Amino acid sequence: SDHQLEYPESPEAMDWSSHYPMFTGKKAERNADLHEERKGNAKRLDREVEIADIGCGYGGLLFALAPKMPETLILGLEIRISVAKFVQEKIKALRQQGNSPRPPSSPSKETAKTPVADTSSPSSSSVPGGYQNIACLRANTMKFLPNFFHRHQLRAIFLCFPDPHFKARKHKARIVSSSLNSEYAYVLRPGGKVYTITDVEDLHEWMVERLGSHPSFERVSREEEEEGEGQDELVGVMRRETEEGKKVERNGGKKFVAVFRRVEDPSWP
Ligand code: SAM
Repeated sequence: SDHQLEYPESPEAMDWSSHYPMFTGKKAERNADLHEERKGNAKRLDREVEIADIGCGYGGLLFALAPKMPETLILGLEIRISVAKFVQEKIKALRQQGNSPRPPSSPSKETAKTPVADTSSPSSSSVPGGYQNIACLRANTMKFLPNFFHRHQLRAIFLCFPDPHFKARKHKARIVSSSLNSEYAYVLRPGGKVYTITDVEDLHEWMVERLGSHPSFERVSREEEEEGEGQDELVGVMRRETEEGKKVERNGGKKFVAVFRRVEDPSWP
């Protein structure tokens, strides 16, 4: 139950260093000095989490995104204890397999010439970033999202195959609703996106209706929701890489995708 859920009092109180240990360092400490309220927490990160996968399940999307964006911190949030633990253990194992420092952010002349990835070995040392940039927390995102992220922190939120809660009296348990959408809008920066995918057409329509009519969101063009050259790569990864998506694929099911852009807040006179 939620009584056992651990969550920070505020985003400033969250110590991310144990989740992303390779992203702590001198710069992070300097940043901490600048923010009085952050003092007292010895280790801070040199950057913030920017992508959240809400209800990440077994983490397929996290593991697929990790090497594609090795400099971006990505967080999976999952309510089921055993599932969150599975993802955490898998991240730990992959990191240990690699056990290599992440590559520098700006390649030196030498690394620019030599490929960083060693494709001859399947270990995670051959994977850019060695899975240092992903983490999973057990959390009920219907309750505590703004405890983890401050306003405008995120650039992407994924809602992949959310539980459909078919019966009308269960609809309040859906993770897309006008109040939750306002929380997504709060933590997402203008220009950021909410990515949704489901195999349940009724839920797809529900999400399109609710997110599309929210003042902070506009649905992107249908072309932008397609895969292909020049398109948003994250859409393709989402279509292919989640466990649920693979199951739907195997069963020959249909996938409905909708992506919403966080619009600028209205300026007050
Ligand atoms: N996104 C994954 C995928 O596409 O394979 C998993 C989809 S699964 C159908 C939905 C997941 O959302 C489950 O793992 C469930 O435990 C999780 N979930 C449901 N409500 C949640 C909540 N309030 N907070 C966090 N996770 C939640």
